[in-house]
Amino acid sequence: MFSRKIGIDLGTANTLVYLPKKGVVINEPSVVAISISDNRVLAVGNEAKEMIGRTPDSIIASRPLKDGVIADYRVTQAMLSYFMNKAGGKFKIFRPEVLVSVPAGITSTEKRAVIEAAIQSGAKAAYIAKQPVLAAVGAGIPINSPVGNMIVDIGGGTTDVAIISLGGIVACASVRVAGDKLDRAIADYIKRKHNLVIGDRTAEEIKIQIGSAIPNPERGNIKIKGRDLIEGLPKTIEVTNKEVVEAMSGELKEIIRAIKSVLQVTPPELASDVIDRGMFLSGGGALLANIDDLISRATGVPCYVANEPLLCVAKGAGIVLENLEVYKRSIMSKK
Ligand code: ADP
Ligand code: MG
Repeated sequence: MFSRKIGIDLGTANTLVYLPKKGVVINEPSVVAISISDNRVLAVGNEAKEMIGRTPDSIIASRPLKDGVIADYRVTQAMLSYFMNKAGGKFKIFRPEVLVSVPAGITSTEKRAVIEAAIQSGAKAAYIAKQPVLAAVGAGIPINSPVGNMIVDIGGGTTDVAIISLGGIVACASVRVAGDKLDRAIADYIKRKHNLVIGDRTAEEIKIQIGSAIPNPERGNIKIKGRDLIEGLPKTIEVTNKEVVEAMSGELKEIIRAIKSVLQVTPPELASDVIDRGMFLSGGGALLANIDDLISRATGVPCYVANEPLLCVAKGAGIVLENLEVYKRSIMSKK
């Protein structure tokens, strides 16, 4: 028997498709390649990302969820139908039930647009749920209990902070500071300090290889290649952990500020639950070394990295799909 349910984590950086009992079956960049001349969708996912650098003039890369909002309905629909088709040809005979994660801040019109896009793409029934809620479910948090639970999802484009109680979001904030901005900050710092121009990919590699949220000499150094700003020639330099921490510190402060802003508006009863239970981190940014230490020091609230943080939203989508009745308070649907 094959599953007829599909959970989709439509992230700013990556889209994951989850099939109950199979787990994450697709994990590709949230990119759609569009030809400028006739405004046609050329490719989606990995293929789209590869096309981009190669034909820069005639093709543009579009990220449907650029800053945590649905930037373009048509592009979103192209992505959804691509991923639904790729998840299994069998769905052509058995139309699937699809659950799509959406940013917490989107309007009800945008929500209906996503539901409509899923139906257009062949879903028998379409459900949407807010990303922070799904991240919490995927992190194993009992969201339906009448206590305050806090989740911080640090993705590529946005960091989403939410307090959840009884299946709903009580307080939340979303800032456009997350993994991408950390990469940019590293690239800018290296340009300023070493006169070396590096690409986004190299910056990300530095962050992942030796970065940390607080100084951690054990993370070591890394040799990187770039182009010298003055001579214009290729050059290799060595970057230290301390430099990377310094480069990212401003952006990390922004993330802390967003977390504090949510704690400040949390009703006292729920705030006391959060202090007892701590907050949970999901998303790729949660993998930054020592980010939990930095956040708990800065806020005074214990902070834990969820299991497999990159998969929380997708797993949450799968769990909610399999238990629609249990999570009915957290979803919006159309059949
Ligand atoms: P989204 O949900 O917005 O698509 P993800 O949750 O997939 O985003 O996270 C992507 C971000 O996580 C990227 O900015 C990536 O650089 C970052 N990331 C992935 N692994 C690590 C790591 N080990 N350390 C630090 N950042 C990481
Ligand atoms: Mg995400």
